[in-house]
Amino acid sequence: MTHHRTGQQSDLLVIGAGVMGTWTAYHAQRAGDRSVTLLDAWGPGHPRSTSGDETRITRAAHGADALYTRWSRLALEHWQRFEQEHGVELFVPAGVLWFAHHESSFESASVPVLRAKGVPCEVLDPDELRHRWPAIGTDDGLRFALYEPEAGVLMARRGCQEVTQAFREAGGTFDLAAVRPARVEGARLISVEDPSGSSWSAESFVFACGPWLPRIFPKVLGDVIRVTKQDLVFMGPPAGDDRFTAGAMPAWADYDAAYYGVPGIDDRGFKLAPDRYGPVFDPTNGDRGVDPESVRLARAYLRRRFPALEQAPVVETRVCQYESTIDANFIISRHPELENVWLVGGGSGHAYKHGPRIGEYLLARLNGTTEGAQDGPAEERFRLGTREAGSAARTGADDMARTWDLF
Ligand SMILES: Cc1cc2nc3c(=O)[nH]c(=O)nc-3n(C[C@H](O)[C@H](O)[C@H](O)COP(=O)(O)OP(=O)(O)OC[C@H]3O[C@@H](n4cnc5c(N)ncnc54)[C@H](O)[C@@H]3O)c2cc1C
Repeated sequence: MTHHRTGQQSDLLVIGAGVMGTWTAYHAQRAGDRSVTLLDAWGPGHPRSTSGDETRITRAAHGADALYTRWSRLALEHWQRFEQEHGVELFVPAGVLWFAHHESSFESASVPVLRAKGVPCEVLDPDELRHRWPAIGTDDGLRFALYEPEAGVLMARRGCQEVTQAFREAGGTFDLAAVRPARVEGARLISVEDPSGSSWSAESFVFACGPWLPRIFPKVLGDVIRVTKQDLVFMGPPAGDDRFTAGAMPAWADYDAAYYGVPGIDDRGFKLAPDRYGPVFDPTNGDRGVDPESVRLARAYLRRRFPALEQAPVVETRVCQYESTIDANFIISRHPELENVWLVGGGSGHAYKHGPRIGEYLLARLNGTTEGAQDGPAEERFRLGTREAGSAARTGADDMARTWDLF
């Protein structure tokens, strides 16, 4: 049970210990010029958080969008440096395969950007693909595959826990609490409060509350972030069969077919995620059972791409949520009315890998510096305010526009 705490004061208070909040707090604490407190309602990487799944893909290909390509590489350097410094394993260098159905596709547009940024990649025709990974089916009109050998998989839940632990070891304070903005003076937030009346005050506040952000700031974010239920299934390969395990099989994405997946890691199953938007979801109380239709659709996709797993048993399921903006760009912005409050979120199904870079960028903004216009103005991209439906980062955006019409 929570005991009453009052008047706790820090220079920076970060609310939310998902990937965005933990990395913001960690970078800020390590910079050494601020006292930092991190709060979370249920703890870092808990199962209701969007960062709370076992695994997340990290890849550099983003079509023609060079900013996310550059950011993913900067972020991966942080993840790997963190592993070395703290003696933990968070990145599994499994590689990532993209299945392309057209010559002028997201994958084709990615190739020149990857090459310009010095990211290794290979374009494989269906024969070469089958030769390297015989378990992959290519009879559905697949044109080519794009392979990123230096991409792979991040251990998502574990990452949040390890970064929080390192933040504490560096002198940061972590408290378990669910808070809301409380005292405001003029254009400044003075404190936040939990339901027991405990309060935390700070010079600056970062709300990194993932799918809960629109509930905390309904006026500012209620129409900006949509939270949808996403059903994941994990298939169990036959006993003694290692063809679907990291090392033998890369992580993969098939945007046109709206599926992506992760090979077996830590002896878990072969993970399959639909990249289309599910129904609107309540991240606190929503039922985390998967719809049988999600399993049927996953099997239909397996028949095409990984036929040996079509009849495999489902060994685990998980319900996650996307918290999407209409153009799939993140929100990293000052609150429109509170000058010492920063809002960070709108991960839109692709932010986990970028966590370290998002934290670093946000801290630079807090310190008054901007990224400039390299690869387009980042400040503009991450702003609050009107946005156009589009597929800046993911091809599900058309689908998103349809989902938005429902509101
Ligand atoms: C199915 C699925 C697959 C995905 N695949 C990928 C992928 O392959 N690669 C990739 O890069 N990204 C992927 N993503 C996206 C990625 O997981 C998210 O963008 C990212 O994890 C979001 O992190 P976050 O820190 O914004 O939110 P969260 O992880 O949800 O963290 C928010 C935290 O805030 C806390 N909080 C909320 N309200 C309060 C409050 N009032 N007081 C205190 N604490 C509070 C919550 O408890 C939570 O811990 C995927 C997402 C899903 C759903």
